[in-house]
Amino acid sequence: MGMKGREIAAKRGLDVDQLIKLLNKAYSDEWFAYYQYWVGAKVAEGVLFGPIVAEMTEHAKEELHHADRLAERICQLGGTPVLSPEDWYKESNCEYLVPANPEAAVLLQQNIASERCAIEVYENLLEFIDGKDPVTEDIIHDVLADEVDHENDLEALAKAIPGGAPKGKGCGCPVKK
Ligand code: FE
Ligand code: FE
Ligand code: MG
Repeated sequence: MGMKGREIAAKRGLDVDQLIKLLNKAYSDEWFAYYQYWVGAKVAEGVLFGPIVAEMTEHAKEELHHADRLAERICQLGGTPVLSPEDWYKESNCEYLVPANPEAAVLLQQNIASERCAIEVYENLLEFIDGKDPVTEDIIHDVLADEVDHENDLEALAKAIPGGAPKGKGCGCPVKK
């Protein structure tokens, strides 16, 4: 653990143990995000599947990179990243949407919903940090910017599908109860 590094946050009054817990929850979401894209890209078929698979494959890599950055920060703060995949289910904020229907347009809608959930998770994390841990905050800013970009890319693809654009502006975030 980086003692001085942890101190930066603690001396500003941030509950570092709670921060580690929230980072681990987001970390679990990232593994699901990675897998939902990765395996979805393998099984996808149908309308516009070429460009959709290309985008999903790229996003999968970026989600894995998010997991990497969160794990590193958890370690720096003296925590341990979730060690067992079965705990991803217990810790995650967002629902893992099983890509059971291989139709690319359907996968796209699932991933848009997941990105909206991710955006909410990182907004809440920034609120929790409240400027008290600049190092974690920088990481979350980068990740949040990627999630916003992901949602935007997927929405652009959805608009290119005849009748496939998302209906309404509602969030539809699959946050677990
Ligand atoms: Fe992500
Ligand atoms: Fe994303
Ligand atoms: Mg993209």
